[in-house]
Amino acid sequence: MNGTSTTQTLDIAVLPGDGIGVEVTHACLDLLRAVEPLCGAPALHFARYDAGAQFYARSGEALPERTLEACRRSQAILFGAMGWPDIRYPDGTEIIPQLDLRMALGLYAGVRPIRWFPGLPRILADERAQDIDFVLVREQTEGLFYARGRGQVLDDREAYDTMQVTRSGTQRVTEFAFRIAERRKANGRRARVTCVDKANVFASMAFFRKVFDEVAARHPEISHDYAYVDAMALTMVKKPWSLDVLVTENMFGDILSDLAAGLIGGMGMAPSSDIGDDHGLFQPAHGTAPDIAGQGKANPCAMFLSGAMMLDWLAERHGESGLSVRARLIECAIELTLSSKTAVPMEYGGNADTAAMTAAVIDALPTALRKVA
Ligand code: ATP
Repeated sequence: MNGTSTTQTLDIAVLPGDGIGVEVTHACLDLLRAVEPLCGAPALHFARYDAGAQFYARSGEALPERTLEACRRSQAILFGAMGWPDIRYPDGTEIIPQLDLRMALGLYAGVRPIRWFPGLPRILADERAQDIDFVLVREQTEGLFYARGRGQVLDDREAYDTMQVTRSGTQRVTEFAFRIAERRKANGRRARVTCVDKANVFASMAFFRKVFDEVAARHPEISHDYAYVDAMALTMVKKPWSLDVLVTENMFGDILSDLAAGLIGGMGMAPSSDIGDDHGLFQPAHGTAPDIAGQGKANPCAMFLSGAMMLDWLAERHGESGLSVRARLIECAIELTLSSKTAVPMEYGGNADTAAMTAAVIDALPTALRKVA
């Protein structure tokens, strides 16, 4: 990836994938193209690449070298969703190229912001659920997922999957979480990083916490605390408005991020990014949703918000503040659409399908421009 580019065009590798991944990616491209002329340079150039389960069924390859190379070369990766229950490798495992991309590109920080938007149905009865605004940072290159492809079943009697927690892996993801907290503090929010682990039981998790403490000592201006993962599951449901930035192991993060999305009503409002030192991949937190795929019913907002995260990340890397303005416009247009109930996603019992949600958010851009400018 050319991180020093100051050109007027930034190359974005687009991997729509399977199921609703394809549907929400196309919707997001329409939105990104609509917002671009409102804020000037730099232009984004989108190039589509094959990968995923359906492509594997056609070609025998899940993540072709050409696609991987394009991801390495591009300034950012916009990713839909991949995988399909009926299409599997000969050993029975699912096609999950996003896991391969995380390893190949060193995308160690899975960033999952969870924010309640006015207009969304409140899942929790407590009024304070309107203040939900936290970020879950999931380590993505080791933890229990280290066992993928390495697990052992001995004599059909017992099975082993080994967790890996390294000093360098824990340091870099924890540093990343503290940098997020610093940015939030600069924007007038709380600034606290919570280490989510199971340090009372596992040596690997006690080590994770030890390294976390070393990193925390380098950030005295940011407060920190700890939670066991089971207690965090309870806190997420009882008082999620008290959370700020969480950092955790890969598998714990996988589970907690779906719980977190549930707090704001469903997967269709939960964006994510996979960030490494040299590359960034942006995708909704949801999967391919085979139950609604092909029907045009998916809520595209998670993908829109992931697109906004991509714009912010590119803005910082390339010193292009206009891209951040585009991100604010997208967020504001989503807020306007949901709060005015101009379009209510089918996911929340409304009748706005993917196309109607996309049209409504694009229509809200001029109003968003007046508010943001
Ligand atoms: P994965 O294992 O890849 O996370 P999954 O099948 O466990 O996939 P999802 O594909 O995220 O999970 O779907 C979970 C549920 O949420 C499904 O009922 C799906 O229809 C719903 N869902 C997911 N994304 C959306 C969306 N954007 N709009 C509406 N419903 C969605």
